Amino acid sequence: MKKCPKCGSDKLARIVYGLPAFNKLLEKQLNHQELYLGGCCIPEAEPEYHCFSCGKDVGSLPLLISKHGTEDYRDIVTSVHFSDGGYLSGWDDVTIKKSAGGIVSDYSPTLGIARVPESRVLTDKEWNKLLDRLFCKLYVHEWKKRFDNMLVMDGEQWELEIRLTNRRTRHYSGSNAFPPYWNELLRTFKPYYGEKIK
Ligand SMILES: [Zn+2]
Repeated sequence: MKKCPKCGSDKLARIVYGLPAFNKLLEKQLNHQELYLGGCCIPEAEPEYHCFSCGKDVGSLPLLISKHGTEDYRDIVTSVHFSDGGYLSGWDDVTIKKSAGGIVSDYSPTLGIARVPESRVLTDKEWNKLLDRLFCKLYVHEWKKRFDNMLVMDGEQWELEIRLTNRRTRHYSGSNAFPPYWNELLRTFKPYYGEKIK
């Protein structure tokens, strides 16, 4: 993990669970904030890193524990929607949906965006890669839901909506403020954008 999904800091240390045998090396690593002691309970969705900037434990497996049991997010996503833009420039808009008929990505820009709309069919492998990226590289399940910068009017608005089975959704959005993994998020959806109009 390169940076904290909550605050963006790179002051991350791997969490050591259980009671490690103390020695000089361990002591040095703890003193230099290269390791962090996580205590002795080892539940299922244990975070892998501790952030020394915001104090949160991050890097957990994408597990959702609810009345439906323990589910891996990647098994229960039915669609992913991303839009990004502004009132003046228009919006890029991508929806990737899995249904009985297959997996389809739909890029439909609004007026003002100089790109052509595009639809294409995705393989299971592409779908799995997309979800692996969102949950295991970008840790989207650990993001806060809303990002705001009140000082800027208009500007850039974005939205990420992940739909899950049983009518559940995860909704993330922002106005002129962005999550730590913003550039990675943009790179995730760029391959689905249509060709530029010259
Ligand atoms: Zn942090």
